[in-house]
Amino acid sequence: MASGEIVTRGAGWNRRDFLRGVGAGGAALMLPPRLMAGSGSDVVIVGAGAAGIAAARALMGQGYTVRMLEAANRVGGRAFTESRTFGSPFDHGASWLSSANVNPHREYVQRYGFDLNDYTNATDTLFVDDREADEREYEQYEQAFSTINDRIRFAYEAGDDVPASTVVPEVPFAATAQTWIGPMDMGVDFSGISTIDYWSAADAAPTYHVAQGYGALVERMAKDLPIETGTAVSGIEWGGSGVRVKSSKGTLKARACIVTVSTGVLDAEHIRFHPALPERKREAIHDLPMGLLAKVALEFVDTRFGLPEDSWLTYRVSEELPAEACFFSCWPSGSNLMVGFVGGEFGWELSRAGRDDAIDFALGELRKRFGSDVDRLFVRGTLTGWADDPLSLGAYSAARPGRASAREEIATPVADRIFFAGEACAGAYVATCGGAHMSGQAAAEQVADALG
Ligand SMILES: Cc1cc2nc3c(=O)[nH]c(=O)nc-3n(C[C@H](O)[C@H](O)[C@H](O)COP(=O)(O)OP(=O)(O)OC[C@H]3O[C@@H](n4cnc5c(N)ncnc54)[C@H](O)[C@@H]3O)c2cc1C
Repeated sequence: MASGEIVTRGAGWNRRDFLRGVGAGGAALMLPPRLMAGSGSDVVIVGAGAAGIAAARALMGQGYTVRMLEAANRVGGRAFTESRTFGSPFDHGASWLSSANVNPHREYVQRYGFDLNDYTNATDTLFVDDREADEREYEQYEQAFSTINDRIRFAYEAGDDVPASTVVPEVPFAATAQTWIGPMDMGVDFSGISTIDYWSAADAAPTYHVAQGYGALVERMAKDLPIETGTAVSGIEWGGSGVRVKSSKGTLKARACIVTVSTGVLDAEHIRFHPALPERKREAIHDLPMGLLAKVALEFVDTRFGLPEDSWLTYRVSEELPAEACFFSCWPSGSNLMVGFVGGEFGWELSRAGRDDAIDFALGELRKRFGSDVDRLFVRGTLTGWADDPLSLGAYSAARPGRASAREEIATPVADRIFFAGEACAGAYVATCGGAHMSGQAAAEQVADALG
């Protein structure tokens, strides 16, 4: 997800307070071309994203035999860095390492020599129409975040799991703050945010941008793990003892499996369970639908438009929501990129319209503030494809209002044989990469307890 403590201007990536802050193929150990039904292992892990990688590392460290099946031809899942488009690392998915004081990925940053740029107090430049906001407007903007957060907290403390939009007061810049918190951080419009789900999330501060790419870090963590890429799992049979995991390359038997695919993939039933999962589990999956955050990355030459590196650019939107808006991460880690965020309903709509329309829209939003230099200095752009990606079907999960309790249900194992991990199961760290890792570790512990 995207972003910062919110103290609005000068915040890091902090989902609850404000949140803005919101990979190419891995060198995995190759398995034989066909997976043999008889070649049983202790645990099969479905998916080689952050959660699957963490679970595998934890289980293998305890001596369990593990096999990982990954449908894509690369590892990392929603942590994906590629350098072909711009000639420098661009994260299509996760890029900010949040809650850094407890985030387990921080240790790997040091171990593998990655660099972090501090976003905890990143500047947020606010425009009103074509001019920068004055002091009073900046104050109102900050006040909007804090008032909205207060109202959501009151609802949380009262146990009211209601749409966040129903508790928002009428204050200046309320729509702008909602646009940051909702579509551009949570991936859903404010009306689709559960007050309890939102307020249960941990502070994202301190927050850092991973200079070489968060996806590259996760990919590095997968090195030497027993991952079979290009292997889509289509079914999991758990009626007898252990599990039989059916994939495009054959069937694997194991004592247990850990399923780490997104709730979008689960709800679409791309993996069939036999017998079917218990109804409570299916309801929980359905009640944690995928939101969408899409990034429209624009490369420029010879300019910074007066915006600091590692900062944010926001503009006031009309009070009518959802807004058609694109707020920007400016020159992250010193790159020449302005990375626009579009999310929620408008993000889905723009993704359907396609890359060229999305780039036109984002350029147009910059042109309103910086004039024709935007076109003169623009080099190239791209749009991330999470909306269409059949292996994620969106960006990350958001509980439906009234159903925050689905988080607990989804993380509960079934019959001590099927375990669930992934960002949707990550407790206070949902929708983050570090949280996905923690959930993988937690699932590994559950498996170890069950298998003995
Ligand atoms: C645009 C965007 C921006 C984000 N920004 C941030 C950020 O700044 N900071 C942050 O911490 N988090 C961020 N996130 C969230 C973060 O990327 C995810 O929470 C995290 O990467 C999820 O990891 P996971 O292991 O749960 O799932 P995934 O990474 O989705 O892993 C699941 C794996 O399962 C595979 N799979 C799917 N179906 C099958 C199948 N049938 N058979 C086999 N394999 C299958 C998938 O290919 C995938 O590799 C962002 C996400 C997006 C999309």
